[in-house]
Amino acid sequence: MRRAAFVYEEAQSRHVLREDHVFQPNRLQLTYELLNCYGAFEDSLLIAPKMAEEADLLSFHTEDYVSTVKSLSRGKERGDAAAFNFSAAGDNPPYEGMYEVSAMAVGASLVAAELVASGEVDVAFNISGGLHHAAPGYASGFCVFNDAVIAILSLVKRGLRIAYVDIDAHHGDGVQHAFYESDRVLTISLHEWGRYLFPGTGGVGETGKGPGMGYSVNLPLFPYTDDQTYLWAFREIVPPLVERFKPDILVTQLGCDTHYLDPLTHFLLTTEGYSEVVKELRGLAPKWVALGGGGYEIGVVARAWTLAYGVMAEREWPDEIPAEFQERYGLKRLRDESAPSIDSGMKEQARRFAERGVAEIKRSFSL
Ligand SMILES: [Zn+2]
Repeated sequence: MRRAAFVYEEAQSRHVLREDHVFQPNRLQLTYELLNCYGAFEDSLLIAPKMAEEADLLSFHTEDYVSTVKSLSRGKERGDAAAFNFSAAGDNPPYEGMYEVSAMAVGASLVAAELVASGEVDVAFNISGGLHHAAPGYASGFCVFNDAVIAILSLVKRGLRIAYVDIDAHHGDGVQHAFYESDRVLTISLHEWGRYLFPGTGGVGETGKGPGMGYSVNLPLFPYTDDQTYLWAFREIVPPLVERFKPDILVTQLGCDTHYLDPLTHFLLTTEGYSEVVKELRGLAPKWVALGGGGYEIGVVARAWTLAYGVMAEREWPDEIPAEFQERYGLKRLRDESAPSIDSGMKEQARRFAERGVAEIKRSFSL
């Protein structure tokens, strides 16, 4: 078994962005409870996060932005909130306690990075992290502070080389942007093509700039991409790129909004395909900082991340969900009970799109 740590505390799930907002923090609590029912923390570490210091936040974010988040979090009205991409009815509504909750997600990623870098564990999972869209000076795509960037910066400061792999259905734009001119951090993002999905970036041609040229990799995929095509494309490019880069630590964003039941995206992955991808990631580096990310069907999130933590800790959970959890939340099986139906024409189109992207990446990165 691998030495694994799970970084979480219940206070990270109590806030509400807005009653009708699709990003429901309760998904974190559900994941924790499901893992707990399986006895996951009997032989792995359960660690409470610490709030990030303001200096940590300022390693990536602007002073203006951090102080705006703080005052909005205390319920102050700010005429300039829209300039930081906050609005009550939009993707990023200000809410009470936003600063503390967001700084806690960053702190949790810093704790995970520290546990792994110090060698205390082989892998640490922060399900509240992976907020990959946040920009230096504004909120974006439900992300206030970019914990992934701040955790990677803390590792780079120690002289470590980091490979960041992002399997969320959305492009990891904030993280790519932060390291676009750096050769110390390799960023790889597989995501739904920006023509059909937020944030619209992440084309194959975005390969880095200056000294960072050749250290930014993007594979956009077509809607309806399924397990088979996704896994094929992943195996073609990610292992060879990461092996060549030789990272000291692997950082991954494990958004599970690629699932076929996800209400926001158009991929057709199953929990089986998702678990296979996470197993591939496990094989890439001995030291691994795993972060959460998107996922908007709460039952899928709890099941997918429970499976992911099983892969990290090298534990196999029984498919039948423990009775107490079943009674409480109505979920009976850990793995998908049914598969998505896939039109053969769409399957073929998604496959051909992936083949073209993979071929282009192989050309531009000389794989
Ligand atoms: Zn996403």
